Amino acid sequence: MKKYNFNAGPSILPQYTIENTAKAILDFNGIGLSLMEISHRSKDFQPVVDEAEALFKELLDIPSGYKVLFLGGGASLQFCMVPFNLLEKKAAYLNTGTWASKAMKEAKLFGEVVEVASSKDANFNYIPKDFVVPADADYFHITTNNTIFGTEIRTDLDSPVPMVADMSSDIFSRPIDVSKYNIIYGGAQKNLGPAGLTFVIVKEDALGKVSRPIPTMLDYRTHVKDGSMFNTPPVVPIYAALQTLKWLKELGGVKQMEKMNLDKAKILYDEIERNKIFKGTAVPEARSIMNICFVLNEEYKELEEEFGKFAAERGMVGIKGHRSVGGFRASTYNAMPKSSVQALIDCMQEFEKKH
Ligand SMILES: *Cc1c(COP(=O)(O)O)cnc(C)c1O
Repeated sequence: MKKYNFNAGPSILPQYTIENTAKAILDFNGIGLSLMEISHRSKDFQPVVDEAEALFKELLDIPSGYKVLFLGGGASLQFCMVPFNLLEKKAAYLNTGTWASKAMKEAKLFGEVVEVASSKDANFNYIPKDFVVPADADYFHITTNNTIFGTEIRTDLDSPVPMVADMSSDIFSRPIDVSKYNIIYGGAQKNLGPAGLTFVIVKEDALGKVSRPIPTMLDYRTHVKDGSMFNTPPVVPIYAALQTLKWLKELGGVKQMEKMNLDKAKILYDEIERNKIFKGTAVPEARSIMNICFVLNEEYKELEEEFGKFAAERGMVGIKGHRSVGGFRASTYNAMPKSSVQALIDCMQEFEKKH
């Protein structure tokens, strides 16, 4: 049976990425060795890192003065690396969900953290609007896409101080104005590649301004200086990410990707609104185009488990909602074709007819 992969993360990747990485694992560049058994410093691998950085810069239109780093540790390590490197006195955070809260918790170890606003009062189903970012903050941290709650900040905010963004689950889903950010980071496993790789886009002159000593591995300057080669980077995930970037470029880049993502999200949100059984959880103006969360209407609540089974029998994978929201979540990342979203819609309509 065909499987439709709606996993939230690690999640669907382009077939192009999977096939090319599989080939390189068997024989890298025809050298008779696997990608897994070569030196990260070899002349064959350096071009992979160089090309991945160049494509990051090209696809996201990254201005000069920024570096792209390929590290380990996940987005979760960035929750502490960011304040370690940038927080001298005070930082502002927008609390839009579980990941934002976790980022705040780490920052508090390094200085004063101002929560400019929170949507916790409504189980994070909206993005707060009228808040003030203190002009003396070292940076303003946002989580652009709230993977668990299905809300998203889809335009670059205005801020009196440089922003730092966790873009784990919506990087490359739309064009971004990188110049508004000192750091953009994320785990690769949502929209870019397999788990094990963390990308960091960092403005070089934002570094070196805090007075505390920073352990070598946690100091961005180490990785800027050594081109992500201070220690062994995640070789296979970087190669896979490069394939995704090539795929993305071939497809027309982030503008085209955004168009396709909007289109996919629209047909699913329209169906959730139309279908008598379901309703969305996020307020319409904050809806994510990457993670689409929905629950059953009150009068159909007892059918939740049945729908889960019904969908699984039709090949739907990974649509169970996160426990903090319940219901269902369809992750429609870049690599998800519209036809798969349509298959889920067909399944929802079939289920509606049955009841
Ligand atoms: C998945 C996710 C994380 C956690 O990423 P790890 O790489 O597992 O540390 C952080 N932030 C957001 C927005 C995520 O979606």
